[in-house]
Amino acid sequence: MTSTDQRRDIPRIDHLLAVPEVVAAGEWVSQHTIRGVVNDVVMSARRGAVEAGNVEALVVDAVTRLSPSSSRPVLNATGIVVHTNLGRAPLSAAAIEALVTASGYTDVELDLGTGVRSKRGEPTISALLAACPAAESALVVNNGAAALSLVVTAFAAGRDVVISRGELIEIGAGFRLTDLIESTGPRLKEVGTTNRTHLNDYAQAMSASTGCVLKVHPSNYTVEGFTASVTLPELSVLAADHDVPLVADLGSGLLRPEAALPHEPDVTTALTAGADLVIVSGDKLMGGPQAGIILGNADMVAACSAHPLARAFRSDKLTLAALEATLRGSTTPVECYLLADEPTLRDRANRLGNEVGAPAVRHDGRVGGGGAPGVPLPGWAVQLPEGVARRLRVGDPSVLARVHEGHCLVDLRCIPESADAALAVAISRALDS
Ligand SMILES: *Cc1c(COP(=O)(O)O)cnc(C)c1O
Repeated sequence: MTSTDQRRDIPRIDHLLAVPEVVAAGEWVSQHTIRGVVNDVVMSARRGAVEAGNVEALVVDAVTRLSPSSSRPVLNATGIVVHTNLGRAPLSAAAIEALVTASGYTDVELDLGTGVRSKRGEPTISALLAACPAAESALVVNNGAAALSLVVTAFAAGRDVVISRGELIEIGAGFRLTDLIESTGPRLKEVGTTNRTHLNDYAQAMSASTGCVLKVHPSNYTVEGFTASVTLPELSVLAADHDVPLVADLGSGLLRPEAALPHEPDVTTALTAGADLVIVSGDKLMGGPQAGIILGNADMVAACSAHPLARAFRSDKLTLAALEATLRGSTTPVECYLLADEPTLRDRANRLGNEVGAPAVRHDGRVGGGGAPGVPLPGWAVQLPEGVARRLRVGDPSVLARVHEGHCLVDLRCIPESADAALAVAISRALDS
């Protein structure tokens, strides 16, 4: 129990709030947050859990560690380039700069030359069309799921979305495309089987109630063996015969073919092959901010823009600015990590291994984020005891390594070379503690 005497020694709240370090913390966190911290320490002292003489020091320690944001940077040592749990694509320097500029008042819907209201996100659309001339028009919404929902609702609310059973996918965290599609009114018209779907299956499903034909790239798994699927050129003839759009949900976000990922679909190829509308995410292989992008036929994109849901799904100014800069800026981190040179990764891993006294081993990275499933990206990792993984994760900087077959593997692919020194320190500390 705390004696009355000891309680009397607990500093008053007013006194604590006037301590210079506590006043200084008010520059970056709210008074409400600071009062909460001060109250917590004082209450602990009243309960006897903290000595009265330590209260001021504890308050100072706590407020100086306060931050208005709890989000922490993480060094991605998993070798997975688009890591969903780590926020998918890390932004390029150009995108970060654009974000900061756009964070204040900005000309997102105003032509500064004429002083007249302009179309929201016009420069971002121009950047998309410049990067992908196969598209006549484009629309940016909140994410890939919103883009898909908007397209099927605009063309197939109360009607059928014709789709192969081999493409009814769950993407992650229980998110099923089928539930999403049906949630705003379209009906699914499933055709074919899990492993084989033929053109005739689609043809038989077409009717006066068909709203659109949807082809989904099964981004996070592959079906191997006795399989058959129908190509976009074949489907495009069928869709045109029934005067309905052919929509391709590609997921990954490549605008043009990428030699390093020969099996990954891209927007240019899909549009050239006959898709009317293509849907991709901005924060997967495109390497930009979270966004859903609809590209293709101008009238159909306009129909999507005019739908009331477009307003509910619209992108904010920060996304539009970052996406434009991603497209117009130099190489994105995603591209850089994806194409990282294997001998360079080996040299870095050897150097790091020597510094921390651990072996460098071959380790394949992955595209991740539901892209190029099963495609290995040859690289290198430093191999540590399994128990180190947790200490690395909670360290500063936080390092997320891969735990595999009893080892903690630190893969260098997705770590900027400028962070190698900090990584070596983090590992040495984790090994010592
Ligand atoms: C990732 C993905 C989506 C969902 O996109 P989000 O941007 O995560 O909403 C939809 N379809 C496919 C094929 C995908 O790979």
